[in-house]
Amino acid sequence: MVTGAGSGIGRACAVALAAAGALVHVVDLDGESAAAAAEAIGGRAHVVDLARGELIGELPAEVDILVNNAGFQHVAPLTEFPPDRFELIQKVMVQAPFLLLRRTLPHMYAHGWGRIVNISSVHGLRASAFKAGYVTAKHALEGLSKVAALEGASHGVTSNCVNPGYVRTPLVEAQIEAQAAAHGIDADQVVSDVMLGRSAIKRMIRPEEVAAVTVWLCGPHTGYITGASIPVDGGWTAA
Ligand code: NAD
Repeated sequence: MVTGAGSGIGRACAVALAAAGALVHVVDLDGESAAAAAEAIGGRAHVVDLARGELIGELPAEVDILVNNAGFQHVAPLTEFPPDRFELIQKVMVQAPFLLLRRTLPHMYAHGWGRIVNISSVHGLRASAFKAGYVTAKHALEGLSKVAALEGASHGVTSNCVNPGYVRTPLVEAQIEAQAAAHGIDADQVVSDVMLGRSAIKRMIRPEEVAAVTVWLCGPHTGYITGASIPVDGGWTAA
């Protein structure tokens, strides 16, 4: 099961997992993109707003691999950060992963095998200005992932975070203008100075590069990796 699999990183994860032999449950708020993504890989589409915790009980519980990926960004200084947006970010990016773990772990425990991959971010490990909701949520996801690692270990279940820097997806395209306004600079400077300023490798990541790490974490050679956070960040966190 991949959440937010209608677009960007989630869609790339769904494609890569399907290519590796998985039957993928594509979960997304956007019905059209969920249907298109599922059709392309022979998966099953589930149109659900993950902010609505009560709907998570309608999703399948019998999954072996859970990729918590759905998310969004809101860029604003703390003093102007809308409280309802802050709350919504926590619901989609923290509460939904928690509820999905509660729902799917019993099946994984019963079979003695499971893989949790949480698509966190460099912002699970580092902060940036104007991203209070997102940085808070990603740091919380890091904690949730580690608890799942400790509890899952005796059941053959691993839980890890993947921590990308900037990946060229609709989520990032949409925030270039917002960042330009917040920082008082133009759009080109947002990409070169804000987005790639702290990365040693001066290009954005491709969604497929994040998906490859996700599939590797679900493969045969990574059963001892758990509770880890794997930067895919072009050296950002090395500096
Ligand atoms: P994206 O906007 O391309 O895709 C996000 C998907 O999540 C969309 O299909 C959207 O419909 C879905 N979604 C959003 N809210 C939802 C909700 N309430 N219920 C169900 N689905 C919902 O974004 P992306 O860049 O592919 O981001 C995916 C994940 O990767 C996010 O968690 C994001 O924080 C993380 N991430 C992205 C980047 C980046 O630079 N793009 C970097 C690090 C981490």
